[in-house]
Amino acid sequence: MRQITIRRRKLLVLVFVVALAIALVACQLRQAPETPGDISEPEPPEPEVAEIVEPEPVPEPPPKPLSPVLRWYPRKIYLGDYFVLQLENVTAEDTIRSTLDPPAQFFPHDGGQKALVPLSYWATGDSLVFQVMVERRGETILDREVRIVIGDKEFDTQRLYVTQEQSAMRTDDLWAKDWVHISKARVDSHDEPLWEGNFLMPVEGRISTEFGEIRYINDVPSGRHSGLDIAAPTGTPIVAGNSGIVTLSMELNVTGNTVIIDHGLNLFGTYYHLDQLGVEAGDWVDRGDVIGTVGSTGFSTGPHLHWTMGIGHTPISPWLLVDEDPLALFSFFDTPDEAPEGPLR
Ligand SMILES: [Zn+2]
Repeated sequence: MRQITIRRRKLLVLVFVVALAIALVACQLRQAPETPGDISEPEPPEPEVAEIVEPEPVPEPPPKPLSPVLRWYPRKIYLGDYFVLQLENVTAEDTIRSTLDPPAQFFPHDGGQKALVPLSYWATGDSLVFQVMVERRGETILDREVRIVIGDKEFDTQRLYVTQEQSAMRTDDLWAKDWVHISKARVDSHDEPLWEGNFLMPVEGRISTEFGEIRYINDVPSGRHSGLDIAAPTGTPIVAGNSGIVTLSMELNVTGNTVIIDHGLNLFGTYYHLDQLGVEAGDWVDRGDVIGTVGSTGFSTGPHLHWTMGIGHTPISPWLLVDEDPLALFSFFDTPDEAPEGPLR
């Protein structure tokens, strides 16, 4: 009986110990850290998606068009010189007018509109005053007065004596016939500069008549000399003063064999009295290309080249273009504050 009791106690103790052990193991397992092999990152929390509400687009007001700005340079020039007008903040639809006679021809250039404007050697007074107007959809948005001071300049007088036979080659009727062709060749100019750099003298030789000289033929006033006469032997090659497109190459009555070159922006070069014509209308010529030879055709007292440079039909001094690329005037508008008032030359 006693042995049974002891065995039962031992059994109870054993059961107790086993139960305790199981409880301890279970407890250990529950507190066990994550196994080191498990390196998977925890799933990141779903980001909160903020609801982006697009604001209603506010329509931008149309940009207010800037007022046109007119500038000019130089402020003081001589008879037979030229200046540049520049308009900024104008569009192709705007109408530009001026009280200049002939009117200034504007061309788009560098984001603005520019015009080369001659001052005729026939101008009088001590200043040139004119208005420039810009109209947009029937409304005048610019009306500006421009005043250019005219500097003093002396021109020589030349007295030429010719035979009756020579004089007969220079009648008004013959001039009028020539003018039909010349006038057409100096109307439509390329809308960008075709020249490069300053102009070359088309031929080397003695200057027998200067630009702008006041001329008397057989003691009768006969106007002014529109270009330079350069005396050289017959057959001497004549080169294009600069690049451009030939608009006329033909024999005329008073001016003889004649070549006209459009250099763009209404700038034209005209060559008279050639012996041989070396180009045709429509030809492109580079600066320095031979365009013909020196002669004495038409109304001429000896072999020479007559070279006129003009803006439209208004002659300007060729020396200005030999001395300086006309585009040099344009660069003034990049730094207007530093530009001198003139005269430049
Ligand atoms: Zn001449």
